[in-house]
Amino acid sequence: MSNSSQPSPDRSSPDHAGSGQQVVGDADNLRVSVLSEALPYIQRFAGRRIVVKYGGAAMVRADLREAVFRDLALLACVGVQPVVVHGGGPEINEWLGRLAIEPQFREGLRVTDAETMDVVEMVLVGRVNKQIVNGLNRVGGKAVGLAGCDGGLVQARPWGDGSHGLVGEVASVDPSVLAPLLANGYIPVISSVAPDAEGLAHNINADTVAGEIAAALDAEKLILLTDTPGILMDRQDPGSLIRQISLSQARELIASGVVEGGMTPKTECCIRALAQGVSAAHIVDGRVAHSLLLEVFTNSGIGTMVVGSSRQLHG
Ligand code: ADP
Ligand code: MG
Repeated sequence: MSNSSQPSPDRSSPDHAGSGQQVVGDADNLRVSVLSEALPYIQRFAGRRIVVKYGGAAMVRADLREAVFRDLALLACVGVQPVVVHGGGPEINEWLGRLAIEPQFREGLRVTDAETMDVVEMVLVGRVNKQIVNGLNRVGGKAVGLAGCDGGLVQARPWGDGSHGLVGEVASVDPSVLAPLLANGYIPVISSVAPDAEGLAHNINADTVAGEIAAALDAEKLILLTDTPGILMDRQDPGSLIRQISLSQARELIASGVVEGGMTPKTECCIRALAQGVSAAHIVDGRVAHSLLLEVFTNSGIGTMVVGSSRQLHG
């Protein structure tokens, strides 16, 4: 961030020379009118929880990372209560590579043995989580890092028939540790690693964790940042974005195979979150700078919005 974008109370600068002339420039007018137009959105979402799954390019590219951190800090600053859930990005594979452990995927999910899980946990909880916390704090947010074990937030059970090793699904969520943090303006940053009933750490798809936490928190929105414009009718064609779908249409897209791979857990967790009372779930292009603010502070939004069938309007 350049110094010129820092607010300054100094009225002796050339801009504010005592000429008696109009000193408010176009940029100032624009900033004030944009802020003023944001008022109804701020009023609508202040005090509400918005759960954001952070991953993909928005986690990798420095400019996008900075934009996401600023968006989250801004949301918290105006009284919205963002909660961040993150995956590992490329760092897990990078560390598995350094340690000569071959990553394996099945149905979009990592197959995880004990050796791999050690690396997943160290990288996700020890490094990626703290980088996000530091990044948020650097732009003026108050972030606190948590994993599933902290305060008993998330308990895992083995995914499916257990053949994916230490890949878990969410058995239960106890969001009570989050309430005092949110009430005091902290931004919880949650790693998608959680213990089973015996305390054995499992890696859970971060979209799934975000969806379950959104449901447990009775969140206003669930926003999944990813590297596509949203759900595409034809995944080769970025122009085939589906702007809005109902729960039943979302289920049909999975059944018909339009949605597959990594988009399946995303769509499924949107369905589950909505079925459990979250108002709207969004799959949003994290490659677009400030995609979070575009989703929260505009009527049209960006990406795909999944809504309960009674909801018609975007927002
Ligand atoms: P993330 O890292 O954000 O979790 P994933 O790779 O797990 O992303 O999931 C997104 C991927 O899902 C897309 O890159 C795309 O390859 C795949 N995909 C499958 N079906 C669709 C669809 N209908 N529309 C968009 N992407 C789809
Ligand atoms: Mg994924």
